[in-house]
Amino acid sequence: MSDVAHMMTCQELVELVTDYLEDRLEPPVRARFEEHLEACPPCGTYLEQMRDTIGALGRIPPESLSPHAEEELLAAFRDWAARR
Ligand SMILES: [Zn+2]
Repeated sequence: MSDVAHMMTCQELVELVTDYLEDRLEPPVRARFEEHLEACPPCGTYLEQMRDTIGALGRIPPESLSPHAEEELLAAFRDWAARR
């Protein structure tokens, strides 16, 4: 988390999404998070899904942070990349 010039990866974004939604990211990290979102539509979709889930449940379900969720995200990313 020290290399601010390096674009955040999808993996990093997934790990930070709960902190983002709870507004707990440091401003430089938040800026990188939002930079990644603009460049990566699948992560934007993932963020919206997480926001909807939290809005519906009032909390973050532990299973949403499982490797399975990451696999779905990566599959979405591959679909998106394949369509470009
Ligand atoms: Zn991404």
